[in-house]
Amino acid sequence: MSKRIYLCSPHMGGREMKYVQEAFDSNWIAPLGPNVDGFERELCSATGAKHVAALSSGTAAIHLSLIMLGVKAGDYVIGQSFTFSATVNPIAYLGAIPVLVDSEPGTWNMDPELLEEAIRKVKGERLKDKVAGEIKAIVVAHLYGMPARMKEIMAVADKYGIPVIEDAAEALGSEYMGRRVGCNSKFGILSFNGNKIITTSGGGALISDDAAMIERARFLATQARDPAPHYQHSVIGYNYRMSNVVAGVGRGQLEVLDLRVRQHREFNAWYRELLKDVPGVTFQSEPSPDFYSNFWLTCIVIEPAVAGTDREKLRLAFEAADIESRPLWKPMHLQPVFAGCPAYVNGTSEALFTNGLCLPSGSNIDDAGRERIAEVLRRAFKV
Ligand SMILES: *Cc1c(COP(=O)(O)O)cnc(C)c1O
Repeated sequence: MSKRIYLCSPHMGGREMKYVQEAFDSNWIAPLGPNVDGFERELCSATGAKHVAALSSGTAAIHLSLIMLGVKAGDYVIGQSFTFSATVNPIAYLGAIPVLVDSEPGTWNMDPELLEEAIRKVKGERLKDKVAGEIKAIVVAHLYGMPARMKEIMAVADKYGIPVIEDAAEALGSEYMGRRVGCNSKFGILSFNGNKIITTSGGGALISDDAAMIERARFLATQARDPAPHYQHSVIGYNYRMSNVVAGVGRGQLEVLDLRVRQHREFNAWYRELLKDVPGVTFQSEPSPDFYSNFWLTCIVIEPAVAGTDREKLRLAFEAADIESRPLWKPMHLQPVFAGCPAYVNGTSEALFTNGLCLPSGSNIDDAGRERIAEVLRRAFKV
């Protein structure tokens, strides 16, 4: 019996246990210690960010960055509609109102023109109805590793003086105009959950060039303890720091990050070659040399009328061969939980959700695994 093939399962580099062993040997079994410090330093070099706080999850990193930007109940925060719910949930944690903005077809990420329309409309509505609250932040995601159009997005954000948070949970190692993503705005957030391009089993990080903000994040993430011999608190704190044990896993994983990016890109090229003559199949693609994706997941869109099959038939064919594939993100404006939120849509994310599929993309899928995948694809598309 061959084993199930997953979308992207953990792929250890080999030296993770050395760092974990060091944590045990020195008894740093705590949410602080040499691996946490080392992982933060090494993440600075891996991303080009000046400062990094290692946290318990990417979601925690988004939550803390919104708190530090002063987001309060009744404020508006603009979020990308086409994304994983973790991009938007922290807005709701704070009682703020998510304003959902659709994607543009090139990158599948936030549409800069629609972003400006959303800002104008929300500001206009505020004046008309005198609704309290203001737009405090924009959260843009780099989905499946593809950088968003940051130059245009930052131009709009700067015009209206709104800070931007980059959700780079899926895009560690990706680059935009020669810079690693997460470093083109006020804050970047990373995730090291089990299925990401590198993993600590679970974890995240906040990255920024603002030293005071990262210091503040570390303070808030360790229960906001004021300097005093006893426990003294003037603000609400959180338990969001990364454990020194899992930071050891992260240090081992970072050593192979560049290799993993090369492997995921090679896998993406393999799919393109395999499907190059199939009509009605298109890939999420880099719109220009300014965009360099880690291709965490290879994603395709299937036009049923042209391709002779559809997304769901292909997904079930993979499933029958014990291979995991998954529809693209269901947009947040279609999620029951965000149904009442203001949304600015253009049809892009809905079309991607209807016809799009994430293909198995793990760097640990061997040649035999690829052959099983290829067989399903050849049968589905008759090539
Ligand atoms: C995984 C992910 C997150 C959340 O990261 P966690 O570490 O799992 O909390 C946020 N946004 C996107 C786009 C993600 O894929």
